Amino acid sequence: MLPNESMLYPPFTFGNSRYLTSCTGFDALAQAIEAYWNVNATEQSDHYAVQAIELIFPTLPKNELTGNDRKKLLIGANLAGRAINITKTTIPHALSYVLTSKYGYPHGHAVALTFPFFLKYNLEGSRDRFRANDFDGYARKMGHLRQMINVDTLDPFEEMKRYIASLGLGFDSSRDFDDMIVAEGINYERAKNTPIAIDQDTILLAVKSIRENY
Ligand SMILES: [Zn+2]
Repeated sequence: MLPNESMLYPPFTFGNSRYLTSCTGFDALAQAIEAYWNVNATEQSDHYAVQAIELIFPTLPKNELTGNDRKKLLIGANLAGRAINITKTTIPHALSYVLTSKYGYPHGHAVALTFPFFLKYNLEGSRDRFRANDFDGYARKMGHLRQMINVDTLDPFEEMKRYIASLGLGFDSSRDFDDMIVAEGINYERAKNTPIAIDQDTILLAVKSIRENY
């Protein structure tokens, strides 16, 4: 359901716990990044996605979130929602739904679990596995993404793992899962928006990588 108008009122979020903020904030960040690398990306969705990433990425891990920080997260989440409304989501979302419905991870936490793996996978994807037309344009955008999330010269898997661990969104051994059930529960409709082609082995590797995300 799309609103004609929306009102963003930061004080409504002031009482949210750290964990709720991490889950919802990371979901918004993931939506923005998934919109940016999406095969359906447009100039308009890129415009929303870049603003959202720049607002959310540096703000979300702060220990003490001020009213102004909460405002940035709220505006960022709104922009991420606009971006994803154009492109739809990709593989981290496609793999997240079973982790929520069957194993009880809240949505943003479930999305975070395979995010380090697919961040590296899409950033380092090669031309022959690229699913859309303009690989050079995609590569330029991924260079920009690396800068925005500070992995320009660093390993994206390790850095994103650290980032989600700092948010408290790593693997939770009390919510362990069956790898095959998670891999087979994938939403193909969403997975096909991913820019770099994915096979079954890659999906299983991504699921196995979750337990490394402490
Ligand atoms: Zn989401």
